[in-house]
Amino acid sequence: MFLRSDHGQEQAGGTATLSFGRGAYVPTVLSPFDKLRTGIAQIDWAPDLGARIGSADWWRGAATCAALITATCFLSPGFDRPILGDVAPAMSGSEWDEARAQSIAPLAWGAATGRHMAANDLVAPLAQQPERPRQDLTTTLGQGDSFARMLERAGVSKTDSAEVTSLVSNAVALDDIKPGTRIDMTLGRRPDRTVARPLEQLAFRAKFDLKLSVSRTGNALSMTRQPIAIDHTPMRIQGLVGSSLYRSARAAGAPARAVEAYIKAIASRISIGGDVRSADTFDIIIEQARAATGEVQLGSLMFAGLDQGRKKVQLVKWGSEGREQWFEANGVGERRGAMGMPVAGRLTSNFGIRIHPILHTARMHKGLDIAAAYGSPIYAAMDGVVALAGRNGGYGNFVKLIHGGGMATGYGHMSRIAVRPGTRVARGQVIGYVGSTGMSTGPHLHYELWKNGVAINPRSVSFTTMAQLSGATLKAFKARVASLMSVRPGGR
Ligand SMILES: [Zn+2]
Repeated sequence: MFLRSDHGQEQAGGTATLSFGRGAYVPTVLSPFDKLRTGIAQIDWAPDLGARIGSADWWRGAATCAALITATCFLSPGFDRPILGDVAPAMSGSEWDEARAQSIAPLAWGAATGRHMAANDLVAPLAQQPERPRQDLTTTLGQGDSFARMLERAGVSKTDSAEVTSLVSNAVALDDIKPGTRIDMTLGRRPDRTVARPLEQLAFRAKFDLKLSVSRTGNALSMTRQPIAIDHTPMRIQGLVGSSLYRSARAAGAPARAVEAYIKAIASRISIGGDVRSADTFDIIIEQARAATGEVQLGSLMFAGLDQGRKKVQLVKWGSEGREQWFEANGVGERRGAMGMPVAGRLTSNFGIRIHPILHTARMHKGLDIAAAYGSPIYAAMDGVVALAGRNGGYGNFVKLIHGGGMATGYGHMSRIAVRPGTRVARGQVIGYVGSTGMSTGPHLHYELWKNGVAINPRSVSFTTMAQLSGATLKAFKARVASLMSVRPGGR
């Protein structure tokens, strides 16, 4: 049917005369037989029996179905009568041997297939098969493997292996060689089969920027270092946010870990859900090491930028290894949107004189009250050390943190405390959960801030001022920003 219609189309499209002829087509009167045929063709014989149940079409479909089933039942030979067939008899004797010789049996099962021949004058028994003069092989250092063990496994003698290991350990700490490193080696000719082959040559990449090779000259092994040039130009990726910041950045080639770090950094300044528009441009700079041999290693995020037209967010990672913080490119320190609010909630009572809700007397309120759902996590406002963690009179379950610069913070009325006295906490770490312990009328956090032992209004202190850069540090920071900004997008 397809063939026929395809053919018809070809003719209609392929020859102009035919399509012109169609234009002059005059409908002829159909014979009753043709009418019946088109009528039957138009009927949908197999409608969907799951739809419009009970309609005329459905009944007709059900009738078709029943008719087909009935016809099948009538055509069947019956369930109790077996259908007779022809089965070849089992092979035996020479016929079976012939068939078996041509089959392939797994070696593990003995593999007795194939035609066997009797030994004759043309067949000479082989006492010892010849050995290859040299053997080139590649081994891989496994997880938790030792370098010497790996060499011995590959067939290197104990003395050679010890010599190579001591040579290599002069250039690189053996523990620093990454598991999965491939080692190419060549083993030479041995005097007889009872001893291991001598190591002729060995080469591998010990580090991202160093290749080592050991080779034999005469009787001694010597090592050569081949440093690999590494280019440390960071990779910069820019692009439109589009429908999803994460997906667009990933599509632009940023690794998942860097994009996560980027979103975390940006979220500390603006709300990702609310403030980021699809027309905004993201700007990501990632540490990158490119070896002269072509390999690329991507490191951590160095710069997180978001250009919103009217507003620009530019954050630069700065600080000593492990204690890095995000600074704004203009030298102002890290600032997080909800910082100073250690819990996400509603400010219900401010710092200052107020009528106490339980005591009904005018009293100094030395902190902020933030109402939040029972059990909401409470975060440390800054890095610090836990000075107190336990019950403390009207404060209920109370945590006091000591920070640098004579600052300290207190968190009261917790339902549960998540830290112990003396432990270090990082900014943003959960230290407890909102509750209503102590003198409290409902679940809320009482948050206090002390400067040199005096309670001050937490809202008066912007945490940014504490991490500002100055002097030589600021100069170095500015130089870093300038060098980062000079990186060309694409960075390849
Ligand atoms: Zn309070």
